[in-house]
Amino acid sequence: MARTRRLLDNYGPGKIGLSFELFPPKTPEGETDLFQNLRELVAFGPSFITCTYGAGGSTRDKTLDIAGRVKREFGLPVASHLTCVGATADDLRQYLREARDRDIDYIVALRGDPPKGEEAFRVTEGGYAYACELVGLLRAEFPEFDVAVAGYPEMHPEAVSLDADIDNLKRKIDCGADIVITQLFYSNARFLEFRDRCAGAGINAPIVPGLLPVTNLTQVKRITSMCGAHLPEEFQARLEASEGQPQEQFEIGVEHASRQVEELVREGTPGVHFYVLNKSRAAARILGQMSLPESAR
Ligand code: FAD
Repeated sequence: MARTRRLLDNYGPGKIGLSFELFPPKTPEGETDLFQNLRELVAFGPSFITCTYGAGGSTRDKTLDIAGRVKREFGLPVASHLTCVGATADDLRQYLREARDRDIDYIVALRGDPPKGEEAFRVTEGGYAYACELVGLLRAEFPEFDVAVAGYPEMHPEAVSLDADIDNLKRKIDCGADIVITQLFYSNARFLEFRDRCAGAGINAPIVPGLLPVTNLTQVKRITSMCGAHLPEEFQARLEASEGQPQEQFEIGVEHASRQVEELVREGTPGVHFYVLNKSRAAARILGQMSLPESAR
């Protein structure tokens, strides 16, 4: 089957590619809740929906189930995330065949984090050490999938330097990835500097900012400590001043994320990827109160 590069069509002059990222719920109630929330988000015309792949392959089948169900119910392009953790190249091939059978459109190709309780990523015998190798497998044997890879505006925590990390990103694009979706960030200045450095390094693929609207301080502290995202001082101070007032914190988080989106669009970013965490409330508020350029749906 020939490569379509449909993923790239979501981004381009005058368009904003909008995508939402879900995770596989653990319970039937969680799944019902997810689809109710997604119904509201689909009204904003996303270009595609992605579903994460649990640490160490823990959600393998559920990731495919959810992505497949989103495709059937909403008729939207879907992406499955896939990591190399605990998998041989043949395991990855098997997953990709199943994804093909379920009519999944795109793959978000990742190395993955070490499984719980382990300090460092360990290469599985017969598996891959880096995401670029998974991209290579996709390009060589599964040309029907378009491919997104992860980028880190504030550097991947294991990288020796931002430049080395950008070299890695370039390698993933050179291996055949189509777009970059970034780790979440709260400082647009850091993202824009990263974008410029990527351009300087010869990365021409669309770099789509990943945003997670913060809706409470406890959540943001946990998340930023995990991924190393920097919280601008003023934003943090406002959240701290409203501790114990959940509605107030929600409003502050929504306001910050809305300003981020507006500025990013002004700065010419090709799209926005929302980490919605299976909930519509924050993203719907942000998107409901702004007029984005035409989405590429
Ligand atoms: P890689 O690109 O392989 O990079 C890993 C590290 O190795 C980096 O520090 C890089 O600089 C370095 N490196 C790469 N190549 C070389 C080389 N040749 N020599 C030396 N160093 C090198 N995790 C999940 O478990 N499931 C998910 O569904 C998931 N979805 C994600 C979606 C997005 C958009 C993002 C941003 C992250 C996601 N993650 C997910 C987290 C991701 O798995 C981790 O951040 C992981 O630690 C790195 O994955 P990667 O694909 O970026 O790795």
